[in-house]
Amino acid sequence: MSLIEAGDKGGIVSRGQFALSPETIAFLHSPDGLRQGKLRSSDSPELTLLFSPPEQAARNVDRLQGDQATSLFRSLTPKEMATALSAIGDLFTNPANLAKIKEYEKKQKESTALARPFVEEFKAVYGREIEEEELRDPKRREALLKDHPKLQARWNEFAQHLIDIRPVTTAHRSTIQLFQEQAQKILDDICGRSNLPPITFEFTREHKTFDGQATLSGSYHSSKIAIPEQRLAEEPMNKSDVVEIFAHETKHHEQQTWMMAKALEDIASDKPLADQIKAIQKRWKEDFNLEPTGDFIRDVHKRKAGHKLTEEERKRAESYERSHVEAKASGEKEEQILLLMAIEKTVKDKSAWDAFKIIDEFEKKLEGIPKDTLTDLIQQYKKNKGQEKAPETWDEKDAKETLDFWTGIWLPQLRSEVRTHYRTSVTENEANKVGLDAAEAAK
Ligand SMILES: [Zn+2]
Repeated sequence: MSLIEAGDKGGIVSRGQFALSPETIAFLHSPDGLRQGKLRSSDSPELTLLFSPPEQAARNVDRLQGDQATSLFRSLTPKEMATALSAIGDLFTNPANLAKIKEYEKKQKESTALARPFVEEFKAVYGREIEEEELRDPKRREALLKDHPKLQARWNEFAQHLIDIRPVTTAHRSTIQLFQEQAQKILDDICGRSNLPPITFEFTREHKTFDGQATLSGSYHSSKIAIPEQRLAEEPMNKSDVVEIFAHETKHHEQQTWMMAKALEDIASDKPLADQIKAIQKRWKEDFNLEPTGDFIRDVHKRKAGHKLTEEERKRAESYERSHVEAKASGEKEEQILLLMAIEKTVKDKSAWDAFKIIDEFEKKLEGIPKDTLTDLIQQYKKNKGQEKAPETWDEKDAKETLDFWTGIWLPQLRSEVRTHYRTSVTENEANKVGLDAAEAAK
């Protein structure tokens, strides 16, 4: 980090926590940089502005001395965000790169299709599933296939396919690696300029959210941004989509950094930092269901050194905390939704009697849901509990109707409540706005 003092050559002015990358500094001090009087497009537009005639530079200083300049962490403007992320946008949407990823996904599907007959044949021969260990260990595998020509043939087809697709696999791997490295570099730069702890970026192959709905979007968790790589192949993104995802998830990182700065003040003591870290981790897990890493906490601690949060900064951090408590409440409702879905499905597929087993086991978790209409049935069930089947006296039809009615009312209601929680979440609203603004600026 380097700070260029006000009134420096060429009207370059900066005050406060203004981080410049080594490349920018080198360029600024090179003959080219000083002569051209402007920065490369990859540099911050704000810096480009600052690299301007002295009168204009002075105006910019006034602007920087607002809350952003004195703030511990500095949010990039949508324009800055868009500029910084534009290179990832170009890279991720480059047709030649995408072709390699799509080809790989296609081959993956073929591999699965060829593995299936082998697995089925194995089951037909041995009456059980093949274990991964057996498959990986060539000696054990050979022994299992030796006397079964059909099984051997199925295996050969599959193995040959894996050899055939090797170039595709290699090209895919290096493309993903390139994407990952470039995205990481840009995130490092963004975090450096914002004084935020580093973010790690990775691709995953999962694309499921907690509610079990398949989704192909980015996620943020414990200083880590993840994007399912299938997102690149299955749902082609344009440049502003990429900018939006990264800007959105980076905002979540900034929000949690503010929360952590507050947590460090709240828990501050004479105890060693390691103990404070443990205390924060425990509290975050309980209060927000978040799992901050020790490195992240140490990083915020280091950056915070000497800075006491202002009243305004604490309020901001508090609003983020509330948002995470709300998200946790949504998580609890989500559990109830899953339970109700299980009950609904059991009633449909098996019997009301079996559905009552679930109600009995999870009654506590179904708290808050009025069980008036069910009381008689619960009592009946409990009296005969332990039996495999419903007794003669059990009115299956009545029980089914009651449960259908019950889930029919509560499922939609809980679902809409969960949705409302998300819509009113400060962190999500803010991240959505930042993401959209940056995407718009990238167009
Ligand atoms: Zn979000």
